[in-house]
Amino acid sequence: MDKNQKLELIFGAIRKAYSGRTLVFNDGSPDAPIMIIGEAPGVDEEKQGKPFVGRAGKLLNATLEMLGWQRSDFYITNIVRYRPRDAVGGTLTPTPQEIEKFRPATEKEIEVVDPKLIVVLGRIAMTGLGIEGTMAENRGKVIEKSGHKILITYHPAAILRNINWEPMFREDLAKIAELVK
Ligand code: URA
Repeated sequence: MDKNQKLELIFGAIRKAYSGRTLVFNDGSPDAPIMIIGEAPGVDEEKQGKPFVGRAGKLLNATLEMLGWQRSDFYITNIVRYRPRDAVGGTLTPTPQEIEKFRPATEKEIEVVDPKLIVVLGRIAMTGLGIEGTMAENRGKVIEKSGHKILITYHPAAILRNINWEPMFREDLAKIAELVK
C-alpha cells in the first residue's frame, strides 16, 4: 500500500465516525519532507475543503514564501478535522475532548507521512501531539518525539491578533531550512 492509500484508510475511519460533519483533511504531497499541523479548519477551509486557505493561511503562505518556500513543499493538516462550532454556527476553539479524540488519527497520519520535520502551529496542535508546557515556554524550540523532530511556533491567527509577534514567527519558520538539511 502506498502512502495515499494508507492515508485514505485513516480518513475513511474519520469519515465514518463524523459522518454528519463537513471534514477537511490534508493539502500537499505525503512525500513532502515537512509536515505542518494546525488546529482545526475555519469557515474558509470548510468551504474550500483544504486546510489554511483563509486569512491565517494567507499569512502562513506569505511568510513561507518570504523564506523561499512554496506551499507545495509542505504537507499541511490539522489536529481536528471539522470546524468546532456553537449553536448559531460560530467557530469555537476545539475542546480537550475533541483534541484527544483526534490524537490517534493524527499520530497515524504522522507515521504514514513520516516527515523529516513537523512544524506545530499553536497551542492546540501542541496539545494534540501531547507536548507539555505553554506556548511562551515552547515557541521556537525544536524537540524530538517518537522519532520525529518537531519545531514549535505560534499559530498564524495569533500573529493576526498580535502583529508584534510576527518577527518571532518568521524567525521560527526560518529554522526549517537548517532542520531539514
Ligand atoms: N486555522 C487552522 O488551525 N487550520 C486551518 O486549516 C485554518 C485555520
